[in-house]
Amino acid sequence: MQVFETIGAFRAARTAYPTLGFVPTMGFLHEGHLGLVRRAKAENGAVAVSIFVNPTQFGPNEDYASYPRDPERDLTLLKEAGADLVFLPTPDVLYPPGSVTRIEVGGVADELEGQSRPGHFSGVATVVTKLFNIVQPQRAYFGQKDAQQCAVVRRFVADLDIPVEIVVCDIAREADGLARSSRNVRLTTENRQKAPALFQALQKAARLFRNGERDVDILENAMRAVLTEAGLPDIDYATVVNADTFRREQPCSDNALALLAVQAGEVRLIDNMPL
Ligand code: AMP
Repeated sequence: MQVFETIGAFRAARTAYPTLGFVPTMGFLHEGHLGLVRRAKAENGAVAVSIFVNPTQFGPNEDYASYPRDPERDLTLLKEAGADLVFLPTPDVLYPPGSVTRIEVGGVADELEGQSRPGHFSGVATVVTKLFNIVQPQRAYFGQKDAQQCAVVRRFVADLDIPVEIVVCDIAREADGLARSSRNVRLTTENRQKAPALFQALQKAARLFRNGERDVDILENAMRAVLTEAGLPDIDYATVVNADTFRREQPCSDNALALLAVQAGEVRLIDNMPL
């Protein structure tokens, strides 16, 4: 496994690989990330991983400074998972003085997370485009955990004719159902115990949907009730949308996606489930 901090050194090493899978991450890796890495390796023969906590996708009052970081541990895990190339730039490598260009995605990027986190998807689209240009992978692997991010990436890759196939991988969960996330280590003991309620709320909506319920108000209220009863009343959104557009439809369509964003103390948790 080779590790590079500069664009030039990474590009020089990249030429040795005819096909390359790519997994962009913000580090503090867990089984969710490592599943993506193993699949990318299996499907492409070689895999590149980037570790970069991207400042442009964090709002001014968000957790950029306190986002967990442990590059040494990440590199050990990546070696075990079979990574070939690791790109670990500092912010000034990707955003040198004078850098002002941003990618703005409309449509799906304007909904939900786009409303709650203004500028977030512009930061994501900009950094992912830059990383695609540097890494030049055949395929890139993203997690369904960030379902709206996957839809946004698919959108700008199509709109900008970027020659990268986007592969979306299932959500890796803890034994109690909590979706794995780098941010989970920042949960207090009490909130960690409450956090599986997100998965339980989604399961509740999925059960109702399977039994024929298509009234979005009823599905949303059922999810809110599970979260509130579990002691997580600070709900940013608990909704059911069309999985293509991320827009709410009443009654909901057959390709419905339930999505949650909940504030648990200092930590904002998100999760989702196709219904
Ligand atoms: P992050 O480091 O949080 O930016 O995540 C990097 C990639 O890993 C993104 O494509 C995420 O969607 C994906 N990912 C994060 N957590 C999970 C998870 N629990 N299961 C599957 N993929 C995940």
